Amino acid sequence: MTASPRTAIVAALHDELASVLALMPDEHKQTVAGRDFWIGHWHGHEVVAVLSGIGKVAAATTATLLIERLGVQRIVFTGVAGGLGEGVRVGDLVVAEAFLQHDMDASPIFPRHEMPGYGRSRFDTDRSLTEQLAHAASTALDGAEHFLDRETRAAFGLQTPRLHRGLIVSGDRFVSNASECAALQRELPDALAVEMEGAAFAQVCHDFGVPLAVVRTISDRADDVAHVDFPRFLRAVASRYSGAILDRLFRTW
Ligand code: SAH
Repeated sequence: MTASPRTAIVAALHDELASVLALMPDEHKQTVAGRDFWIGHWHGHEVVAVLSGIGKVAAATTATLLIERLGVQRIVFTGVAGGLGEGVRVGDLVVAEAFLQHDMDASPIFPRHEMPGYGRSRFDTDRSLTEQLAHAASTALDGAEHFLDRETRAAFGLQTPRLHRGLIVSGDRFVSNASECAALQRELPDALAVEMEGAAFAQVCHDFGVPLAVVRTISDRADDVAHVDFPRFLRAVASRYSGAILDRLFRTW
């Protein structure tokens, strides 16, 4: 087998990483800056698995350490997010093509959302890695009945989960009320989902020229019941999805 690039698997939540670690028999742990980096192999590929931490600063630090200290050459991120776009429902998947920080505002000096010093507000994910991840996500959805039983699907109304691709926005806020959600939809009509880490990874990966791909499972609709839906969904659904998607992605390499 030809050597493939050392790949980071990053999850926002412990449950998601657990499914990866369970399949990494030769792993060893390196702790840097309070983060546990699990180094080993997955489906024969060299990987480093780590929790991103919650929020943009924690995520940016983790991304920088992965690149500078752990020497990863590409990053795959899996997590959950709130759905913003019309038709982006709980149980759907969103593969990011670009990220923006919805709470970046240096106006009136810079246009709203523009990242000072970069002349842009959006950071793209890597096209080829994203294509591969989207393919893996779509085949995982096709086989969803193999890892989600009928009762779980019925409880969350997950009859026909769909895959969306496009803009995800990040900010240091758990969006959980209807008016904040509506404001984001008005301001950023093409945003499909909202979460708290992706844009930080996208900016750091842009700075270092490291390919990034991100998939998020929709856990809530960022509305008044988001905080109720979120923990239930995590336990029952999100961890299964991420394991299935990563499994398919790594098998294609
Ligand atoms: N109490 C939780 C953390 C909640 S923070 C725990 O530690 O288990 C929410 C996490 O899910 C963040 O990592 C964020 O990226 C994502 N997320 C899901 N729904 C979201 C929403 N509506 N708004 C913002 N982030 C959301």
